[in-house]
Amino acid sequence: MLYAALFSLAVLTAPAAEKAKPATNTLDPVCKMKVDAKSTVAVVRGQEYRVCSKHCVGALQQDPDKYLEKDGSVKAEEK
Ligand SMILES: [Zn+2]
Repeated sequence: MLYAALFSLAVLTAPAAEKAKPATNTLDPVCKMKVDAKSTVAVVRGQEYRVCSKHCVGALQQDPDKYLEKDGSVKAEEK
């Protein structure tokens, strides 16, 4: 229930009109599962990220610094 409330709050406060940059990540930043073009997309700071599920969308949007570098790249991915 709490997750659902936080998730809808994140959706409401996200600037939906702005066009986000398309996702390029191949690992879910939150749980580090493999993701692909068919995966769920989360938008954080104008950048899309592929994630495995709505659960990870919520986690990523609530605490992006935990999962993303300052430049927006995914911490879980090897460079
Ligand atoms: Zn995930």
